[in-house]
Amino acid sequence: MSSLSAVQYPTAASLGLSGCSVCGQLNRVVASDSLCRHCGMRLTTRKPNSLARSWAFLLAAVVLIVGALEYFPALSLGPLVEHFQMLAGKLV
Ligand SMILES: [Zn+2]
Repeated sequence: MSSLSAVQYPTAASLGLSGCSVCGQLNRVVASDSLCRHCGMRLTTRKPNSLARSWAFLLAAVVLIVGALEYFPALSLGPLVEHFQMLAGKLV
C-alpha cells in the first residue's frame, strides 16, 4: 500500500514569477520594485491591502444578505426550520 504523501507543486512565487494585476503578463521578479515588462505596472506577489479588501467584501455581503432577507423573507430560515420540524414529527 502506498503512503499518502503530499505532492509538492512549485508555486509562481517559488519560481520567482509574478503575474501583472493589470494586464496579466507573467514576469520574472528580480527585485522588490520590479515593473511589468508589458505595461510598466509595479509587480507584487500579493494583492495590496488584501486584508482590508476582505473585510470590505464581508461587510458588503452582510449588508446585502440583511437587505435581501428584509425584502425577500421567503429566503429566510423559516421554511427550513419548518421542514426539519416536520421531519422530527413536531408539526402535523
Ligand atoms: Zn502589466
